[in-house]
Amino acid sequence: MIDEARDGIFHCRMCGRCCEGCGGIVVSPGDIARLSAFLHLASDEFVARYGERTAGKVKIRSGDTDYCIFFSKEEGCTVHEAKPAVCRAWPYFRGNIVDPESLGLAKGFCPGISPYVGHDDFARLGREYLREHNLLASNPTCEALTLILP
Ligand code: SF4
Ligand code: SF4
Repeated sequence: MIDEARDGIFHCRMCGRCCEGCGGIVVSPGDIARLSAFLHLASDEFVARYGERTAGKVKIRSGDTDYCIFFSKEEGCTVHEAKPAVCRAWPYFRGNIVDPESLGLAKGFCPGISPYVGHDDFARLGREYLREHNLLASNPTCEALTLILP
């Protein structure tokens, strides 16, 4: 029932808009471990092939087309099952959960968010989703700054 309700407010259309750009996807040690296992690589090999180090953090590299290196126009996210926490958390970022105006902007950016969902329902279901998927900012394995506190 909750999944149906969530599907009514957000259903990814795989347009790739949120996968475009350089260096926005910071990965935590937990993300690196999950992605490395998914790709059958050692962690350092994963970072060497797909990451770049900036200011002490590891970010996912962009590919030749300025999209995340894991994005495919045909398949969408090619590491979907293991994707970074920040990608798993979208669209339930802190700003969208606490600020109706931010949610309005997110609706204009992401065609997966229902234009009809009210902010209260979005925030309530979003918090539940983050809690269920261990994506709250207090989770020590999850470093994404966009996530909310419990
Ligand atoms: S912008 Fe929204 S609909 Fe498009 S790929 Fe990202 S989450 Fe999916
Ligand atoms: S890991 Fe997947 S969801 Fe995240 S930016 Fe890259 S292609 Fe998009």
